[in-house]
Amino acid sequence: MQPASTFGRDSVQCLLANPKGLRSHYASAVTDEIIGQDVSVCGWIGSVREHGEHLTFIDLRDSTGVVQCVISDRIELHPEWVIRVVGRVSKRPGGTENPTLASGQVEISDASLEVLSKANAVPFSVSDQKDLPDESVRLRYRFVDLRRARLQRNIRTRAQINKAIRRSLESFGFLEIETPMLWTPTPEGAREFSVPSRLQPGNFYVLPQSPQIAKQLLMVSGFDRYYQIARCMRDEDLRSDRQFEFTQLDLEASFVTQEDVREFITQAVSDATQAATGQSNLAFPSITHSEAIARYGSDKPDIRFGHEIFELSDLFAGSGIRALDQPSVGAFIAPAKGEFSRSKLDQLVDRAKALGAAGLLWFRIKQGTDGSLEVDSPIAKFLKNEHVAEIVTRLGAKTGDVVLAVSGEFKATRSVLGTLRTELARANLNLEGLQYLWVIDFPMFEGLDDAGNPIAAHHPFTMPNEDDFELMVSDPLAVRAQSYDLVLNGWELGSGSIRIHDPKIQSDVFKALGISDEVANQRFGFLLDAFGFGAPPHGGFAFGIDRLAALLCGEDTIREVIAFPKTQSGLDLMTGAPKQIARDTLQSYGLAISESPKKA
Ligand code: ASP
Repeated sequence: MQPASTFGRDSVQCLLANPKGLRSHYASAVTDEIIGQDVSVCGWIGSVREHGEHLTFIDLRDSTGVVQCVISDRIELHPEWVIRVVGRVSKRPGGTENPTLASGQVEISDASLEVLSKANAVPFSVSDQKDLPDESVRLRYRFVDLRRARLQRNIRTRAQINKAIRRSLESFGFLEIETPMLWTPTPEGAREFSVPSRLQPGNFYVLPQSPQIAKQLLMVSGFDRYYQIARCMRDEDLRSDRQFEFTQLDLEASFVTQEDVREFITQAVSDATQAATGQSNLAFPSITHSEAIARYGSDKPDIRFGHEIFELSDLFAGSGIRALDQPSVGAFIAPAKGEFSRSKLDQLVDRAKALGAAGLLWFRIKQGTDGSLEVDSPIAKFLKNEHVAEIVTRLGAKTGDVVLAVSGEFKATRSVLGTLRTELARANLNLEGLQYLWVIDFPMFEGLDDAGNPIAAHHPFTMPNEDDFELMVSDPLAVRAQSYDLVLNGWELGSGSIRIHDPKIQSDVFKALGISDEVANQRFGFLLDAFGFGAPPHGGFAFGIDRLAALLCGEDTIREVIAFPKTQSGLDLMTGAPKQIARDTLQSYGLAISESPKKA
């Protein structure tokens, strides 16, 4: 999917309207409306073509587009040199127009050229969009890579997204407030980056994983509605498409319900989507967490396609068919492209086992000789006609469909089914468009740690559902939280919750999490202290701008929408960071490296 906006409409329009200094016009402002005018344009040489003895054609590129310049001379020029061209706008000879350019009907002829800066031979072509070199080369020369039209478009689109979010939230009275980067541990649960203090040797600041605590304090301070396009730092292994530092839209509001928070975010995300893609009136349906797991096997389901999971355990209870007489049997119609071969089905069985299932059953629906529906399946001989009929009816299966089933404990089997459903759909279906989804009523805790204490599903400041307060001690895993996630096309964009503002409830939750008063006071004492001075009920949300921008730009990785990203192993190939630092710098922090440093 391509954004409808080319090059981030607004910012380019503003450039076109405001040429200054060495230029009279930007490339895309040189159009057939100004034929006959003298203009000066500045930019980089995209390509040079020499025609005969005395004619040089140059494609000059600036941040709005490309314009063709014709010089009546033969001069040595090379791609990516920086030039200024002065000449007259004239109509291109018939048949040489280029409809893909705003300036495509005209050229700057009789031009004179000034070289402002020469360039070394670039490591890859800026205009070639197809044969890109390895990403490591692109990251090493990111300043050149960023000249490419696609990255120019992405970075501009990202700026449009930020602008739309700001405008939207400010229309609701949200105030942009910056919170500290040199901070103290926050509760998101990831490993933190530490910064040594020179003036307090042996002590460290922490780079914030999020402005979570700071924004809650701002609510205690009475700012009522806060937001920030915030940089967050988490020292986590970069297994998937992640970066150590990322950007979130972070928001908090006082005296609000969770519905209010979702409404603010829905509006901001809709406005950002419209700014980036031109699409409006997108739906934001919601689903409870338990329904999402039951129907899609995921807490971030992609609902652009159906293929929902159905429960079949009641059908086989007491049947004696061991593989199916289980606490839970989940089944869905496999998203397919044509027929599944036997070897493909065997691969799916292996994949299910690799995901932790005991096995995977498949049923190919076929037409019997008498016209009735039958199944082809490794366990076909154990199935009764009514089993087949009920599977077909419940799932709405048709001849040729393959039904996949996994049985065992509900939670584990739904997770396998959810992964298979998504993997098969991404491989076999043509998934297009944008589908947002709110997932609400998350559980408060997501399991038990080694010491038997529940693990917070969100963070420890999340308010439990008031109806479930009593379960906090007796059945913590059944407690629902007042928390919610926003999902786009199967990606978790962000999460939020109503927070605890009552010190007594907070202390109960800390206890449930196995956090002693002493530890709570040591880590979050200042917040608990603040809650003792009049804390309003409050709640908020944060979503990842990198992920949103990547999805709206139709990119597979967030690195394509970040100006200076790091590699998957956290290296900055352009600057060489991280680097060793001088011994005396270390000494000024009272630090010494105990191991011999490894080269990054
Ligand atoms: N601070 C949370 C996070 O970064 C989001 C929130 O609860 O507002 O995940």
